[in-house]
Amino acid sequence: MSLLQWRTLLVDAGWAVPSWPVRWHGRGLPSWADGIVAAELSRAGAAGLPVGAGMSLAAPTILAHGPDSIRERFLRPLLTGEETWCQLFSEPGAGSDLAGLVTRAELDGDEWVVDGQKVWNTSAHHADLGMLVARTDWGVPKHKGLTYFVLPMHQPAVEVRPLRQMNYHSSFNEVFMAGARIPRDFVVGEVGDGWRATLTTLAFERRFGVMRRPKHGEASGRALDEARVEAAAHFETYKWYPQRAGRVDLVVEQSQSNGTSQSPVVRQEIARLLSLQKVSIWTAERAQASRALGRTPGPEGSIGKLATSIIARQAARVHTMIAGAHAMLGGLESPLGGVIAEVLLSTPAQSIAGGTDEIQRNILGEKALGLPREPAVDQERAFRDVPRN
Ligand SMILES: Cc1cc2nc3c(=O)[nH]c(=O)nc-3n(C[C@H](O)[C@H](O)[C@H](O)COP(=O)(O)OP(=O)(O)OC[C@H]3O[C@@H](n4cnc5c(N)ncnc54)[C@H](O)[C@@H]3O)c2cc1C
Repeated sequence: MSLLQWRTLLVDAGWAVPSWPVRWHGRGLPSWADGIVAAELSRAGAAGLPVGAGMSLAAPTILAHGPDSIRERFLRPLLTGEETWCQLFSEPGAGSDLAGLVTRAELDGDEWVVDGQKVWNTSAHHADLGMLVARTDWGVPKHKGLTYFVLPMHQPAVEVRPLRQMNYHSSFNEVFMAGARIPRDFVVGEVGDGWRATLTTLAFERRFGVMRRPKHGEASGRALDEARVEAAAHFETYKWYPQRAGRVDLVVEQSQSNGTSQSPVVRQEIARLLSLQKVSIWTAERAQASRALGRTPGPEGSIGKLATSIIARQAARVHTMIAGAHAMLGGLESPLGGVIAEVLLSTPAQSIAGGTDEIQRNILGEKALGLPREPAVDQERAFRDVPRN
């Protein structure tokens, strides 16, 4: 049986995502059921759901905001892995200030015509569809004139150009749209109400953090082999992500093997690192338990995102103390074949992706601690009148 046939069976039976409503391929069970079913599938040596921005970001956003025509058209191929997704949010002049984006979409008969540029778009080079936020009304305040579209990526008016990072990998792209076409009804939520759906995607992005590789064990079979190939292709883009998180798992062994564990200063920094990690795991578990009880998500998403950055930076510092100047070397004769150098070059990304550390602090200050909002002069006036460069 092919992977597609197997996933079709799973989806039809409602066991692909049992927490989803019965109408949308689920069984209406509590959210804890998803984890249990995924674990049991893996234990039985069966393939599960596809990994990627489709499952983690597009699916919950579409499920939450609809409309039904969009749920009908996109959820099933997303679950079976027939269509893959990327996130087209950031622009050269709009990252933290995402609502200031200037990609425009205008209605032309039965299609939207899109012009603009996106940047830092992970996996856009092999995605079928893009979660695109574009401006459809310039005469209202900036958060109100946005619409959340599904952009078909395979069309001549969409050009994807890979970027090269300082850690030598190439995971991101610039995406140029010059007269790109979108069918009129490929809108998530409602026209002009895209900011609400955007916030949903961003909340899930903070929550899902580091992507986990599916466990396929030793079992074999056509569906499982195809799932392995699919996962390998997907994770090719993300192969430096463990380094981005600081590789805390390597610290103790490295320190013991070169004797630096004898130094009280190094030991103290390792203890600090491991304590931070432990506390962060407990916070994540608390958030998970609270979600399982059906409570509204609290500030744990921002706390967790910030904690991951702090841990990654502390891990990079500890790795440097252990490896010394050799930490800067790449190549086969360097510490762990260049992994430590890659950690140093990759951890800055952790503090930027999915919302920078400063932005998480703003969210925590304003939403969790109730501090006054940042002063802003661009919230009320029509976006076309807001000064920008
Ligand atoms: C690994 C990685 C993967 C990514 N994947 C994607 C993707 O798939 N799709 C996508 O659309 N984007 C993606 N991004 C882009 C990411 O969302 C943006 O880089 C991020 O939101 C920051 O925006 P910016 O780069 O424009 O920085 P800016 O917003 O220009 O920020 C520059 C600096 O100013 C600070 N700053 C800005 N505003 C404030 C404020 N109000 N208060 C305090 N400090 C502030 C920031 O914290 C930062 O230090 C990715 C980025 C990375 C690193």
